[in-house]
Amino acid sequence: MASFNEEIINMATTNGATLIARSLKQQGVDYMFGIVGFPVVPIAIAAQNEGITFIGMRNEQAASYATQAAGYLLGRPQACLVVSGPGVIHALSGLANAQQNNWPMVLLGGANRLDQNGMGAFQEERQVLATTPFTKYSHVVERVDRIPFYVEQAVRTAWYGRPGATYLDLPDDVILGEIDEGQVHMAATIPPPPVSQASDVDVQSALAALRTAERPLVIVGKGMAWSRAEAEVRAFIDTTGLPFLNSPMGKGVMSDDHPLTVGAARSHALKEADLIMVLGARLNWIMHFGKAPRFNPGVRVIQLDISAEQLSTNVPTEVGLVGDGKAVMAQLNKALAADAWSYPADTPWRQSIAAKIESNRVSMETMAADDTAPMNYYRAFRDIKEAIPRNAIIVSEGANTMDIGRTQLNNAEPRTRLDAGSYGTMGVGFGFAVAAAVVQHERPVVSVSGDSAFGFSGMELETICRYDLPITTIVLNNGGIGGGFENWPADRPLPPSSLSRTARYEKVIEAFGGQGYYVEDPADLRPTLDKALSSGKPSVVHVLIAARADRKPQEFSWKT
Ligand code: ADP
Ligand code: MG
Repeated sequence: MASFNEEIINMATTNGATLIARSLKQQGVDYMFGIVGFPVVPIAIAAQNEGITFIGMRNEQAASYATQAAGYLLGRPQACLVVSGPGVIHALSGLANAQQNNWPMVLLGGANRLDQNGMGAFQEERQVLATTPFTKYSHVVERVDRIPFYVEQAVRTAWYGRPGATYLDLPDDVILGEIDEGQVHMAATIPPPPVSQASDVDVQSALAALRTAERPLVIVGKGMAWSRAEAEVRAFIDTTGLPFLNSPMGKGVMSDDHPLTVGAARSHALKEADLIMVLGARLNWIMHFGKAPRFNPGVRVIQLDISAEQLSTNVPTEVGLVGDGKAVMAQLNKALAADAWSYPADTPWRQSIAAKIESNRVSMETMAADDTAPMNYYRAFRDIKEAIPRNAIIVSEGANTMDIGRTQLNNAEPRTRLDAGSYGTMGVGFGFAVAAAVVQHERPVVSVSGDSAFGFSGMELETICRYDLPITTIVLNNGGIGGGFENWPADRPLPPSSLSRTARYEKVIEAFGGQGYYVEDPADLRPTLDKALSSGKPSVVHVLIAARADRKPQEFSWKT
């Protein structure tokens, strides 16, 4: 009897789909976002059987955005599953966005049977070629028995070093292929990335450079959020007393209400600093390339990054700290403990920042107090800011909505802001919000979007309602891309940037069973937000904004 059972066990077979799911689960993939169809349905089912949560979305683009936000929030890569051809092509947007933001994700694309390659198979596409410019690693899985090997490569490459996107091409016959359990060789389980440190010489040089600065400024970027360096960065700022600026998604590593933030005097601080200490951020367009006129032409740079290639990009680095953000900040703190130093409490630099913060505060409060309908942005954000719970994840996209929102909405905790990011991608909001609500259900999720940004992935409201995710989406509608046009003459062609001013975005969610609210009168905004946020239900709060509502006057245009 025993030998008969053994024979059955020995003869047991498994298939490609199961081996893919089992390998992903083994490598720490707990979530899979995607859209099923030929030939990937068996993978999604196998994933559920292996204990992976599958979230089915409405467009591969949004699914790929969701996957990378989940990876960023969880600190390890998650998976996106899409069909062959158009499915993979739609997901390219997500690969590109993940690469540009240095967020990890693994894309799994179905493909035609290997023996139909080149024949014009259903949805045949050169997917490895197409994904290569947007990934760190892209490969065909050509045999069932090599699945564990390739999954390990894809997850590890996305995760280790500077994070990014990877791709696996999964032909139909590999997904359906059978293999004896006895022939399966699982790969080693990937340990968390090895932690690299800066050299002691560079740590000492960085502290020595700081001591010689008259107008130092620390810039905290999302590399610090990714490396979970919040405790170390907070200790460093509190010990040194250095003024700091959060990058858009670095917000919350240091709380926006910390007394040393220069957030409300950003332009002034960047322009006048004689030394910047850039922690896990890039001197790209978001940081105005580190160049004049936005920066002091001779600005000195200390730069911490996991990627040595990043140093000296656009501005020569004086001291480079190459290593993991959390580990290098701990090195700096240790060196400071041995040889204490702090930036003096009363300097002309601190006074000039404080004066600028005060004058900006007065001009913003004047705009925020304006109760004219339709509202201006500052008036709308005044109520939104007060209504959003402190531990919420804030998702934000749009032109003015995102730019002004970034300055008006506070983040107190790390990794609580997800926005259009380094690539400036509009349409990420719904995918990010879904991911946040799925992987961090203990936090409220509030998505603040412009009317244009809403349109890119608006159908994901069905996903949100289907899974009953308690996401509050606030749409600030100015009737256009960057702004609309009131009373446009009917006999003239519509301006390219115009969108429907009379659209009722809140009704879209009602069609799927969620709650919609529409606000025109500023007096109704706060009570409506409170109702939506406390409902615990999927909701859309549609807020009409003046078509030409603008920001407070800016000294520089955004691309300088
Ligand atoms: P931000 O948008 O906040 O400026 P960027 O995406 O431009 O941020 O830059 C983040 C930087 O953080 C990248 O250059 C990336 O290499 C770096 N980085 C990523 N992971 C780590 C890490 N573990 N430690 C330190 N730096 C990191
Ligand atoms: Mg708009």
